[in-house]
Amino acid sequence: MTNETRRGASGPSRRADALRASGIRKILQRAATMPDAVNLTIGQPDFPVPANVQQAAIDAIQAGRNGYSPNAGDPALVARIRKDLTRDLGWDFDKGAASPGVIATTGTSGALTLAYLALLDPGDECIIPDPYFVSYPELATMCNATAVACETGEDGELTAERVEPLITDKTRFVLFNTPANPNGVVASKRTCADLLDLCRSKGVVLLSDEIYDAFAFPESRTDACVRDSSIKRCPSPARLPGAEDTVLLIRGFGKTFGCTGWRLGYAAGPAWLVEAMVKFHQYTFVCAPTPLQHGAAACFDADMDEVVLEYQKRRDMIVDKLGALTHIAPPGGAFYAWVKVPEHLGMTGEQFTELAAEHNVLVVNGGVFSQHDTHFRISYATDPVKLAAGLDTLARLMSK
Ligand code: PMP
Repeated sequence: MTNETRRGASGPSRRADALRASGIRKILQRAATMPDAVNLTIGQPDFPVPANVQQAAIDAIQAGRNGYSPNAGDPALVARIRKDLTRDLGWDFDKGAASPGVIATTGTSGALTLAYLALLDPGDECIIPDPYFVSYPELATMCNATAVACETGEDGELTAERVEPLITDKTRFVLFNTPANPNGVVASKRTCADLLDLCRSKGVVLLSDEIYDAFAFPESRTDACVRDSSIKRCPSPARLPGAEDTVLLIRGFGKTFGCTGWRLGYAAGPAWLVEAMVKFHQYTFVCAPTPLQHGAAACFDADMDEVVLEYQKRRDMIVDKLGALTHIAPPGGAFYAWVKVPEHLGMTGEQFTELAAEHNVLVVNGGVFSQHDTHFRISYATDPVKLAAGLDTLARLMSK
């Protein structure tokens, strides 16, 4: 960077200044001062890591697999990912140079970061849903690029119809998230197909963030995978014929297997794109944590359905309790609900969140995930007894 482009010799870059502090971290700091509150804020699964997964990581540490792995990931993990994607999506990894690429990353965040770096030049644009996961706009800022937010309406779906008017000659990718954070919405097969067609016709990459892919409740799984009915996941644009030329699929292990602190995810898609991501990996994270990559390989043998069905019950508690009081975009997966602050209260999301905190219930105000502060997010990755108590309080406050 030259002196002209810097503001001063000491002090952070313009990019650093332009980043907003994550609203979630602020709320977590507050939560730390309220240990007895009903905390419905963070998306941290509340179940133990499956025993076989724990054991595989312990075994790897004890067997001395503690050094670097290749930048694209440990071969054993990469092989398991390929096998799963062939079974789930029908992707063919035996096409030599024409095969899709795979990279194991430091969390799903690592995959997103590398993808943004690999795709965006300064001045470029990407299209993200509104509401969005907090990193989506800020990662564009980190690349001196612009994230253009696409309103997803009451149904919460990022449809081709909504995206198309926002595509310009600067657009490099559309970022799709199903099941979505913060609203739990699962996109329909039609939405996936139309969006893939649109991205193909415009020559832009479709980034599909499916970190919550295993958290798809039975009603959202219908017909998702005709190839193999034992696959319990939601519709994905990556499952459509030839998708691997256009879709960069991003999935993770942290949420599904209760190990967010292990920092493991992966991306798979067009070889040219994954190769560019591997280059950035060399100079940033180097590789995902090696012994934990061995743990992650064992995740493919773990069945999390019991947990998912337990989360479905909690989702039902929320919809039953609050659904009659306000609008909630239908949450078909993940562990979040996106609740509109009832208009009769005349409050912003932040004002309502503050009121709830005064009554010992912590939720996240919608402004953290959206250009509008009209909603709040509930995370139900929490004890059902506490959740029930929190919902009683929220319902009382919403009815006033
Ligand atoms: N994408 C979405 C939609 C998320 O909700 C999250 C985490 N909350 C991430 C990516 C990042 O996950 P990880 O912990 O694997 O980096």
